[in-house]
Amino acid sequence: MTTPILEVRGVSQRFGKFQALSNVSVAFQPGRLTAIIGPNGAGKSTFFNVVSGAFPPTEGSIHFLGNDITGLPQHEFARIGIAKSFQITNVFKQLSAHENVRVAAQMRHARFALLRPRASMRELIDLADHLLERVGLQPVRDKPAADLAHGQQRALEIAMALACEPKLLLMDEPTAGMSPEETTTMMKLIASLATERTVILVEHKMKLVMGLCERLIVLHHGEFLAEGTPDEIRSNAEVKRVYLGQ
Ligand code: ADP
Ligand code: MG
Repeated sequence: MTTPILEVRGVSQRFGKFQALSNVSVAFQPGRLTAIIGPNGAGKSTFFNVVSGAFPPTEGSIHFLGNDITGLPQHEFARIGIAKSFQITNVFKQLSAHENVRVAAQMRHARFALLRPRASMRELIDLADHLLERVGLQPVRDKPAADLAHGQQRALEIAMALACEPKLLLMDEPTAGMSPEETTTMMKLIASLATERTVILVEHKMKLVMGLCERLIVLHHGEFLAEGTPDEIRSNAEVKRVYLGQ
């Protein structure tokens, strides 16, 4: 067995008296694309917040490549290689797409300045161009982020997350609010990113991820409900009940 890239052991999260996650244990193997699905309010975003270091879990532990990272400060999560995309507040609306990615790359390099020689402006510019190309935004490179279409802003956030060179990329409902065309483009981008790194995707539209992911994990009312291949999940009686009962 390879060491899981991410392992969550007995994680619970309470907000006051409300139990958002209850004793969830799950492991993710490196290099795979996994989706966490479940109805609204199932605890999916809370799970991501816990594994991306937004707050430590009330109970349980989180392990990254075999190391216990429970309670590590959030900026350390980016340093060790865990990036969460879709934090819209990280995009500077008045800056161009290219400037936004450059800022993200610069912040990373500034943080590592003691470990590595400081990247030159030329390197940062080239890296930003490379990442914009990677997510299909090179044609709008110089447009202010505010003027980008919704789908393009989401792609920009991915490019910014990639500037941290993450080993593990977490995406929370990347197609939320997208048109069918934007959704198709985003799904293709996710599939292509997943050939290079481990990706975990949170989605409440089960059908959307069925054709994309090799493995699905289902949360319901903050509890682990099921895990398996798309076929196994599709035919799981408990899962059917939860989704039909919505
Ligand atoms: P999902 O992403 O699956 O829709 P969430 O993880 O966002 O679900 O939320 C699960 C439950 O936890 C919801 O009932 C939500 O209201 C509650 N919750 C999430 N974050 C907080 C918070 N910071 N404080 C209080 N309750 C929260
Ligand atoms: Mg959510």
